[in-house]
Amino acid sequence: MNGVEAYIGLGSNLAEPLQQLARAIAALAALPHTTLVAQSPFYASRPVGPQDQPDFINGAVQLRTTLPPLALLDELQRIEQQHGRERSQRWGPRTLDLDLLLYGDQVVHHPRLKVPHVELHNRDFVLQPLLDLTPTLRTPSGRSVAALRQQCADNNLRRLQPAACPPVPHSA
Ligand code: AMP
Repeated sequence: MNGVEAYIGLGSNLAEPLQQLARAIAALAALPHTTLVAQSPFYASRPVGPQDQPDFINGAVQLRTTLPPLALLDELQRIEQQHGRERSQRWGPRTLDLDLLLYGDQVVHHPRLKVPHVELHNRDFVLQPLLDLTPTLRTPSGRSVAALRQQCADNNLRRLQPAACPPVPHSA
């Protein structure tokens, strides 16, 4: 299949986060014009912002897709809505957060979409899963994700054992 390698970040800290991520990955794998190439291990991390909320579970997936970036964002937001995402508080708890981290080597400046994701370089819980997927990955400006990870502040990232991660269900 032709297409672009797109990397999606996943996060959840409400309502059975491991199940949320597993179901979201199944939904991503079922997207039209899209193949799931690989999924990263899952990590637990301290929340960004208010600390009076549960730790987050994070991961990332690598897709190959012919969906254009905004169409892919539409699909991510549809999946978030289907998972009953709550948006009550900025940086607050959430059932599911899906971010388009990288879309090939394209740079997108659109009112709805910035790619690479603007916080990519600040978040070890995003950079580490990206590195797990593709150790040689670079941003469109040529910066190595491995170098960004080394420079990034620590969010007490803890890799979960594979046994803790439920298998991806067959139907989303
Ligand atoms: P958040 O609450 O952090 O998930 O932010 C959601 C908002 O960020 C939505 O209004 C999106 O249109 C916007 N957005 C901008 N760039 C991106 C991106 N790369 N991935 C996901 N959402 C994005």
